[in-house]
Amino acid sequence: MAKKVLIIGTGLGALATALRLSTRGYKVEMVERYHRAGGRLNLMQKDGFTFDVGPSFFSMSYEFTELFKDCGIPNPLQLEELNPVYSVNFAHRNKPFYIYKDMEKLAREFDGLETDFETKIRKYIGTAKKVFHDTEDIVIRRNFNSKLDYLLQLTRVPVKHAPMMFRSMWKELDGIFSSEEAKVIFSLVAFFLGSTPFQTPAVYSLLNYTELEHDGYWNVKGGMYKIVEELVKLLEARGVKIHYNTEISSVSSHNGKIDAFVDTNGKRWTADLYVCNSDAAAFRGTVLKRKRYSVEKLDSMEWTLSPFTIYLGVKGKLDNLIHHNYFLGNNFKQYADTIFKTSVAPEKPYYYVNVSSKSNPACAPEGHENVFILCPVPDLRYKPDWSDSEKLADTILEDLSQRTGFDFKANRVTQTIMTPIDWKDAFNLYRGSGLGLAHGLNQVGGFRPSNKDEEFNNLYYVGASTTPGTGLPMVVISSRLATERIEKEHGPVYADVV
Ligand SMILES: Cc1cc2nc3c(=O)[nH]c(=O)nc-3n(C[C@H](O)[C@H](O)[C@H](O)COP(=O)(O)OP(=O)(O)OC[C@H]3O[C@@H](n4cnc5c(N)ncnc54)[C@H](O)[C@@H]3O)c2cc1C
Repeated sequence: MAKKVLIIGTGLGALATALRLSTRGYKVEMVERYHRAGGRLNLMQKDGFTFDVGPSFFSMSYEFTELFKDCGIPNPLQLEELNPVYSVNFAHRNKPFYIYKDMEKLAREFDGLETDFETKIRKYIGTAKKVFHDTEDIVIRRNFNSKLDYLLQLTRVPVKHAPMMFRSMWKELDGIFSSEEAKVIFSLVAFFLGSTPFQTPAVYSLLNYTELEHDGYWNVKGGMYKIVEELVKLLEARGVKIHYNTEISSVSSHNGKIDAFVDTNGKRWTADLYVCNSDAAAFRGTVLKRKRYSVEKLDSMEWTLSPFTIYLGVKGKLDNLIHHNYFLGNNFKQYADTIFKTSVAPEKPYYYVNVSSKSNPACAPEGHENVFILCPVPDLRYKPDWSDSEKLADTILEDLSQRTGFDFKANRVTQTIMTPIDWKDAFNLYRGSGLGLAHGLNQVGGFRPSNKDEEFNNLYYVGASTTPGTGLPMVVISSRLATERIEKEHGPVYADVV
């Protein structure tokens, strides 16, 4: 008889795991505390506007291709490459930098600012490319059975990359570029990882290679939530049942094996195997009550910044914005040094603006645009009080209006704000951290919470805070790694399931 798997959560990692496991003949059932599938990759519909709640683009699109291929399904997603990849607006400069994959075109953006830019960027990306291809299969796309196993795997990485583990990303950029602007632009990726470029090791410059040369950034035609809609449709056609508004709060076990997970209403959910898509570190502490993941221990870990997000419907067209835009101040070092641990909202916020109606016109009524603003802020350990959320939103809208020449407040048709508290409450994000555990060298590979539980033989994890890490392509890889483990440890595999 087919083995039954209960998956806790319906984030992208969970949906992808459900698809892979159902392809292999496992009977899958899912429980989700929110009222809709997708986790952080979610949807908001208001006053005629449709907003993607979290992710607005992704890199490494081939991981989605691999997912559908692995499941024997034609890829239902229509992907559109972003070109330019993004724009960067500095407070001291009234013209944005457009970041193109085409290096000649990109070099023209730095005319008069950085001599020999093209030679320099090619050199920088060339090194990042080697790091990416020399580490991808060793560090990112495989399971580790122990820390030792991970460390042994690391010995396979060519030794020439070792200095980049100990040099910061900023130092690497500083050694190549002379302009502050180039250094700042190419170091922004460090914040996605949960640190600053002054602390992030230079090996992570591989992310610049993934965005600028390897694969670029992609939008999904119709909006990012199409990913979830398509996956849910495929799962429902396979008989996978999703139970919403159901939160797992405790576990019942016997002899190192889980008998059932129990929800907040006392209902027992039983299966042969369990996959947890709730945060892999926080779940071990809050639901499994592991001492290694007590609140004190969780709080001593490094977490990515929290999202402060604004969903804005406006009347009129935004000619000065493209799909994906960064707005930065001119105090980068000071910003980086304080943003993770300050208890006050930033006075001069750094933020990201996405106008998905530019690529997906159906997301806004005729003559309108939908605007998503993401301002990374300290997590709830450092700033627990968000009673000043309206003030921060106003500061951002005034700054954006001044820098784009469009009056966002006067043309506002609808507005919703999500503070870190809302994010925590909606998707159970630990201390409201947006991307989960950070990716310092002590929290990656064999040092990240494993996708196999330490005590229960029938419990696995998938998602942003287990291996390999956060971001949409990473959690798709995570689904493959979790599935590989389950298949290896619990086969049998049933082929030819529709
Ligand atoms: C504002 C924002 C913007 C982002 N932008 C991008 C981007 O542009 N590109 C990109 O690649 N990545 C982006 N990310 C990161 C990306 O969203 C995440 O890495 C990814 O979606 C995480 O997926 P996951 O599988 O870990 O599941 P999650 O999204 O964490 O979903 C987990 C699910 O489990 C449910 N759950 C939790 N606990 C329980 C429980 N006890 N019982 C039942 N259900 C439970 C939650 O409600 C949730 O639905 C962004 C994240 C945020 C917050």
